[in-house]
Amino acid sequence: MKFQDRSQIEALAKFKSQGDLVTSLYLTTDKGRLSRKEIQLAFKNLINDARARACALSASKDRIENLTRDLDRIASFGNQKLGTWNAEGLALFAASRKGFWEALELPHGPRDRVVFDANFYVRPLASILDKYSHICVLLISRREAVWYDVTLGEIKLLDKIQSDVPSRVREGGFEGTKQKKIERHIDAHLQDHYKKAARKTFALSKRGAFDWLFIGAEENHSGDLESHLHSYLADKIKARLHARASDPPAKVLEEVLAVEAKLKKAEEEEIVQKLIAELERGGLATSGLRDTIHRLNQFEVQTLVVRHNFSRSGRICPNHRFLYLDDLKCPVDDKKTEIVKDIIDEAIETVLKRGGTVKQIEPPTRLDRYGGIGAFLKYKA
Ligand SMILES: [Zn+2]
Repeated sequence: MKFQDRSQIEALAKFKSQGDLVTSLYLTTDKGRLSRKEIQLAFKNLINDARARACALSASKDRIENLTRDLDRIASFGNQKLGTWNAEGLALFAASRKGFWEALELPHGPRDRVVFDANFYVRPLASILDKYSHICVLLISRREAVWYDVTLGEIKLLDKIQSDVPSRVREGGFEGTKQKKIERHIDAHLQDHYKKAARKTFALSKRGAFDWLFIGAEENHSGDLESHLHSYLADKIKARLHARASDPPAKVLEEVLAVEAKLKKAEEEEIVQKLIAELERGGLATSGLRDTIHRLNQFEVQTLVVRHNFSRSGRICPNHRFLYLDDLKCPVDDKKTEIVKDIIDEAIETVLKRGGTVKQIEPPTRLDRYGGIGAFLKYKA
């Protein structure tokens, strides 16, 4: 099933395991970055690691057996489907005893992980949703207007109208006042058409709120249309498209996705730029993995800014959950630290659990020159 909206997250979050542990798996299957072989290997390693962790859990034999059954089902799904899996990410949710099973195609690669918990782990789904905007596309010509909804890389026709605007043909014989009269008549029809389109756009926005409005208008008429739009909608216009009302949806989608990616990238680089400015003026910011996790251990991190897919192993204090790059013992309580596969993933979880924000930045990014990770810090009390 394709991952498409928040209702899917809510349904998973509502699932009642009634005391059982359940399994959630996330895997990046982005063929732009990884070969099929690499993806299959990553999956295998993830499952092996999860099996070892399940067996080491201090839970009843019965509960551990359930997890093992979840993992068996997940492994066989992967063996059958990964060879032809086309989405950029995979999420699996299994609760064997309850007979619950769900496989989601993700439009964006998540961080690889398997989580055992009393509830399904849905936070990566929410962060994927945040990466995408809910876009309304309005394509308008002299006689037609078409609305599309574009969300999570999918396009859906919302509505369509046709207006009876006479074409602008200049016929011989009409001169002076008569010519002007005809033009005024055509203009009135045209303005009517734009008004109708503007009203419909507002009605659609009330039915299903969208974040952005993209407009493609023929003959540079977008100004005419926009003058009729409700100010609430005028604020949502984020792009003017080349696409035309008569274009096939697939072509429209292609342009919309390219524009959306550009807008998102610009938003991300703005955050990076802000971070760099804060660093340069010696303000409330830090950068580099070592300093960032140190500040995190000090409870100072407000917003974590990290390159998407940045990953490396590290160590964690089992007692404090403090993170370290290489300390074998926690400097605070002298406890032996444990290895964690992905210290960035742990850092992200920690920030979110404490109510902070995480901004993941698509590479290439200027953040790379600052170690690929940094943070805005809290004001000290
Ligand atoms: Zn400790």
